[in-house]
Amino acid sequence: MKPVNGVKVHLEEVKRRINDAATRAGRDPASIEVMAVTKTRSEEEIREAVDAGLVLIGENRVQEAMAKFPKGDRGYRLHLIGHLQRNKARFVPGFFDCVESIDKIETAAALERQCKEMGTEVDVLLEVNTSGEQSKSGFTSANKLKEAIDRIGEMDWIRLKGLMTIAPFSEDTAAVRRSFSSLRSMFEEARRRADAGEFVTLSMGMSSDFEIAVEEGATRVRLGTVLFGERP
Ligand SMILES: *Cc1c(COP(=O)(O)O)cnc(C)c1O
Repeated sequence: MKPVNGVKVHLEEVKRRINDAATRAGRDPASIEVMAVTKTRSEEEIREAVDAGLVLIGENRVQEAMAKFPKGDRGYRLHLIGHLQRNKARFVPGFFDCVESIDKIETAAALERQCKEMGTEVDVLLEVNTSGEQSKSGFTSANKLKEAIDRIGEMDWIRLKGLMTIAPFSEDTAAVRRSFSSLRSMFEEARRRADAGEFVTLSMGMSSDFEIAVEEGATRVRLGTVLFGERP
């Protein structure tokens, strides 16, 4: 279903809502960036998002992204936000600017090898499972997360930029908020361990919960439905 208004109008509304949420939390709205999540969207819809001024695009699947996006300089950044299989790591360097969904040290190590081979650096975020839902990926314990941060800190070709999570799909806003605030605590704890200057991104919040995420400290919200309408 096509939304009545275009992406540009929806983006204005989204920005207003981010502003309000940031103001409620005493935050600077300029510290929050909007990612357009384009899984299942056509090249025309992606063009519309870029024309509306969005410079950060997220895709879930390597194969789908490779079919839809050109290589090389695009004028916007492309991030992988879905699970990365180790055998697909070779497609990442030079194509995605960042993988937000690193959920195993082994995947990071595979990516490091591929980046080294191709002489290309790539940014990563570590995905944390803050909802406890088994269907979701991500590090499930603070200890494993710490270990991953330390190991990746020793790698030369992948740059650890922060953390990402998906809150539970729930009407229970208290549970959603707990999920975000727990990621925020882990983020602050990790900033004391990692290179804090580089470790700056807290990617959390989707169409149904981005205002709560902003209130809880998100620096990046990942939005699909609220920008483009319901997915087909
Ligand atoms: C699909 C998706 C989003 C965006 O979802 P909407 O609810 O449409 O905003 C954000 N993050 C991830 C990881 C996704 O898979």
